[in-house]
Amino acid sequence: MSCWHPYTQHGIDPEPLRVASARGAWLELEDGRRVLDAISSWWCNVHGHGHPRLVRALAEQAERLDHVLFAGCTHKPAERLAAELTRRSGLDRCFYSDNGSTAVEVALKMAYLAWQRRGERGRTRFLALEGGYHGDTFGAMSVGDPNPFFEELSPLLFQVSRIDQEGLGEEIARGDVAALIVEPIVQGAAGMRPVPAPFLREARRLCTAHGVLLIADEVMTGFGRTGTLFACEQAGVVPDLMCLAKGLTGGMMPLAATLATEEIYAAFLSTDRARALFHGHTFTANPLACAVALASLDLILENDVPARFRAIGERIAGGLPTESRRFGGIVAVGGGGYLSDALRNVCRERAPDLLLRPLGSVLYAMPPACTTMEECDRIATGMTRVIEAVS
Ligand code: PMP
Repeated sequence: MSCWHPYTQHGIDPEPLRVASARGAWLELEDGRRVLDAISSWWCNVHGHGHPRLVRALAEQAERLDHVLFAGCTHKPAERLAAELTRRSGLDRCFYSDNGSTAVEVALKMAYLAWQRRGERGRTRFLALEGGYHGDTFGAMSVGDPNPFFEELSPLLFQVSRIDQEGLGEEIARGDVAALIVEPIVQGAAGMRPVPAPFLREARRLCTAHGVLLIADEVMTGFGRTGTLFACEQAGVVPDLMCLAKGLTGGMMPLAATLATEEIYAAFLSTDRARALFHGHTFTANPLACAVALASLDLILENDVPARFRAIGERIAGGLPTESRRFGGIVAVGGGGYLSDALRNVCRERAPDLLLRPLGSVLYAMPPACTTMEECDRIATGMTRVIEAVS
C-alpha cells in the first residue's frame, strides 16, 4: 500500500473502498458490493459514471489528437468549448487549467494583475466570505477560511479580509480592494451554507459601485447542480471572473476554466510581452478533456439536467424526517465543525449501500442527475437511518 490518500488520516480512517468499476449512480466494489455514489464523487459527477456519450467522445478524440501544448497551438475542442462557456455565462474569455484550485489561482492572478496593469497599484486586497473554501493551492487556501484546514499554514498565506455577508459594504469601500471572491448560492465545504441571491445582487452592486472585481467560484455549483446551469443565474448576476471545474467534464476528466470579461483580458493585451499573463500548465486545454466537456454540456442541455437536479433534491428532501437545506440537487441537514468523525462512522454502519461523506456534523447528499426517484428514496432512507441514530 503506497498510496497516500487526500483528506485522509491514515492513522484512524478505515481502509478505503476498493472500487472496481462504476456505472450510472453506482460504484461496484472488488468484493462485489454495490454502493450508490450519493455525493457524485466529490461533487463532480453530473450524468452518472461511464456515460456512453462521454466515453465515446473521449475515445474519438483520443484517436484524433491526444494532447498538444496550448501556447502557440490551438484546437477545435478547446475553441468550441470556450465559445459555449463564454456564451452561456455572459463572459468573454476562457482560460483553461486543470482543477478547481488552479481555476481560482488564475482568477486571483488575473484580478491582481489587471489592476497593476491598469496602473491602480494600490488595489491589492482580496475580500472573501467566512466559511469560504476555494481549493488547496496557496492562493486558493489564502482566500479560503483557514478554519479548520489551513490554520497551520497561515504564516505562508497572503492576507485576506474575511467578512460575513453583512460586513461587505464597509470593507469594500476602502479603495484598496482588488476583488471579492464568493461561492454563489451555496458554500460547499463550509457545510452547504446558503449564500442567498439577494446577497449576491448586493455584492454585484457594491463591486460595480466601488470598481471591485467579483469572482464567482462556481467550481461546485456550476453545471446544473444548484438547479440552474450556473448558480449566478439565480441572482441574475454576471461576475467579472468565473471559476469552473468539477462538473465541467461531467466528472470524467480533470479540466478547469477561468472565464473573464473583455475588460480584464484587455488589461493584458499589449505589444509588450512583459504584460502577458504568465500562467500555464502542461495540460492546459487538454483535447480529451475538452471533447468530453463538450459532450457533457450537450447532455446537460438535452436532458435539462438543472431541472433533474431540482427534482432529485425535492425527492430526497421530501423523504427526510427533519428540515433540510436544499439547493437544486444538494440536500443537507445539520451544522458544525468538520473534524468530528462520529457522523462518518455512523454513515458507514447505518447506510452501507450509500457513499456519504459528511462535512463534520453536516450530512448531505448530491447524487448524479441519472439518479432515479427510487434511488432518491433509497438515499433518503439511508440518511434517515443516520439522522435517527445520532438524534
Ligand atoms: N472551489 C470550490 C467551491 C470547491 O468546492 C472546490 C473543491 N471542493 C475547489 C474550489 C477546489 O477544486 P479542486 O478540488 O478541483 O482543486
